[in-house]
Amino acid sequence: MHDPIHLTEDLRLIRDQLRRFVAEAVVPHGEAWEANGMVPREVLREMGALGFLSMRHPEEHGGSGLGAMASLILAEELGRSTFGGFSATVLVHTDMASPHLVRYGNPAQKAKYLPAICRGEIITAVAVTEPGAGSDVAGLATRAVRDGEDYVLNGTKIFITNGVHGDLFFVAARTDPNVKGSRGISIFMVEKGAPGFSVGRRLDKHGWRCSDTAELVFTDCRVARANLLGDENRGFYAIMDNFQNERLVLSGMAVGEAGKALEITLSYLKERQAFGATLWDKQGIRQRLAMLSAQVEATRQLAYHVAWLDSEGQDCVAEVSMLKAMSAEVANRVLYDCVQFHGGMGYMRESTIERMSRDARILPIGGGATEVMLEEVAKRL
Ligand SMILES: Cc1cc2nc3c(=O)[nH]c(=O)nc-3n(C[C@H](O)[C@H](O)[C@H](O)COP(=O)(O)OP(=O)(O)OC[C@H]3O[C@@H](n4cnc5c(N)ncnc54)[C@H](O)[C@@H]3O)c2cc1C
Repeated sequence: MHDPIHLTEDLRLIRDQLRRFVAEAVVPHGEAWEANGMVPREVLREMGALGFLSMRHPEEHGGSGLGAMASLILAEELGRSTFGGFSATVLVHTDMASPHLVRYGNPAQKAKYLPAICRGEIITAVAVTEPGAGSDVAGLATRAVRDGEDYVLNGTKIFITNGVHGDLFFVAARTDPNVKGSRGISIFMVEKGAPGFSVGRRLDKHGWRCSDTAELVFTDCRVARANLLGDENRGFYAIMDNFQNERLVLSGMAVGEAGKALEITLSYLKERQAFGATLWDKQGIRQRLAMLSAQVEATRQLAYHVAWLDSEGQDCVAEVSMLKAMSAEVANRVLYDCVQFHGGMGYMRESTIERMSRDARILPIGGGATEVMLEEVAKRL
């Protein structure tokens, strides 16, 4: 397929470097990471050294200062690795957690954490979801009460990516209990090992096996006032702001996974014999694959359009929500059929397509469920 119209020569070079890195440093080891339930720290440090963890981050703190298009390229190439858990580990750090600091941190906070974040020495996580509040972020109940120069946090977070191995957590907590809903929420940076902060259960998942997911518990956890991020009680708006980028990269990852799954399936179909010919010779199968390719390509072009709108500073909440809903559905449709076309082999744990189909299932749930995305679109129609 042709490259999207807005892809510059520099971005193409970054994409090629990423593709090489994924082929050499990820694909040969991904199965072992899946079995261990984590991506080794050295891999993240290597990505940091190559500049892949800080493409969006400011140059003065060790980043490359690139725009949304770079994030999308990163997400698509990681998606093409076929290891969704690896993609999630990296993208939560680069595009879902640490951007909170880039956008809302003061100079001292940025100077303290950003260089090590860019190098992959500090791994970040974002902790919004709670047992009683997922899609409905405004319903979160974790409390943060001011006490002298500290805040004291109490509450539980759930489903937190990089929860076990993360070093710095962007935690949403309610600072004003007198106002309901979206107002009265703030974001705190909590370091691993802070008194009163513990990792609860490590959660066992259907897919994304090499991404660690945990419950986090805050029991009278003291956080210095200096670690309040942005203005008190304005955290909900920061979360909503950052959701746009989060949804763009989740979509990029979905597009990468779907495109790669089609390539893998095409090779299989051209080899596999049945009824005296290859499966690719069956018109029904190849037309279905052609239609799925069209859907992936259309979604990919929408993703690049959204990244371009974002880099132009345009409001693209409607488009990004359309994209998130569409890419998750398309990826699952593709993976369902790819399993089907692989026959029994597609159901075996040893098959890449089997793993990819498990990994894809989270896409219409996490980072904004499809129904929630469609509500965002409907509101703007
Ligand atoms: C593997 C994994 C990793 C995650 N990583 C993180 C992380 O790093 N940080 C973090 O904060 N969170 C994380 N999450 C949480 C994730 O974002 C939430 O699971 C998601 O937002 C949905 O919330 P919920 O699970 O509470 O489902 P609920 O809000 O209970 O919704 C359940 C279902 O109801 C439907 N639904 C919800 N709202 C509507 C509506 N308005 N209209 C119609 N239908 C609706 C949808 O089908 C939805 O899937 C992760 C989750 C998983 C599974």
